[in-house]
Amino acid sequence: MSLYFISHPACLEHRTPAHHPERPERLSAIDDQLITSGLGMWLDHREAPRVTREQLLRVHDAAYLDEIAGLRPGPDETLCIDGGDTYVSAGSLEAASRAAGAVVHGVDLVMGDARNVAFCSVRPPGHHAGRDRAMGFCLYNNIAVGAAHALEAHGLERVAIADFDVHHGNGTDDIFLHEPRVLLCSTFQHPYYPHAGAEDRHGAPRVNVPLPAGTRGAAYRAAVSERWLPALDAFRPQLLLISAGFDGHLEDDMAGFGLVEADYEWVTRELRGIAERHAGGRIVSVLEGGYALSALGRSVVAHLKALL
Ligand SMILES: [Zn+2]
Repeated sequence: MSLYFISHPACLEHRTPAHHPERPERLSAIDDQLITSGLGMWLDHREAPRVTREQLLRVHDAAYLDEIAGLRPGPDETLCIDGGDTYVSAGSLEAASRAAGAVVHGVDLVMGDARNVAFCSVRPPGHHAGRDRAMGFCLYNNIAVGAAHALEAHGLERVAIADFDVHHGNGTDDIFLHEPRVLLCSTFQHPYYPHAGAEDRHGAPRVNVPLPAGTRGAAYRAAVSERWLPALDAFRPQLLLISAGFDGHLEDDMAGFGLVEADYEWVTRELRGIAERHAGGRIVSVLEGGYALSALGRSVVAHLKALL
């Protein structure tokens, strides 16, 4: 058993200002832990292709794509594009293109008949990006691009997205609000950035589970068992996508959850069970947050072990 590990060197060329938590070293920390863990021999490394404009237009507005394509930061410049903490450097558009392209490629690969699991080790992350806006370090909504590709190019009728990043994936939630073919299951700290997801909205199927700061493994596992898993079993996804953010780790001071590697391994095993029961085991997992470098690398290793 092995899995596709999809990345691209261009993802290191998306630059953010000094002391910004979303930095290229995140991907190097993952690579380092993979070597240390001895897991490398189980990974089938693939280079991420560029995403196409047609693939992006399934979830983003043309005007937004033109707007970020029109930015021309200088070689050492980082332009803030959302009035907050989302930046674009000279290498960002190429990095974002490879990040979204990785998920599309992952979907194509697992829909074939060789291996059925893929992990996209990419940045910038994606789940805060909406149809017409960058937000929260995210430019293109990578997982939404992948889900839309599964629906439109592969003709799937039921795609589930499980998002265990500590922040609510508000971009993904908005993009698929009226899409009944996508079930979004999300756990997130509440109240907290991006201050979304806790309200009841009438739309497509979704299971948003707000949890308080201080949530640790036992409470987290109970919430997933009671809320996500029955909904996922009832939905019977043909493909499972994971927004894999590891910023809920105890050592990650981005937020206030107290999860550890064993919790990420547990939730991944449960999700793998869902995929095996309904989706022929097909999973594409995509890196979102995770900013404490050592904890990030160790958590990705735990996640991949459970996927294998
Ligand atoms: Zn996050």
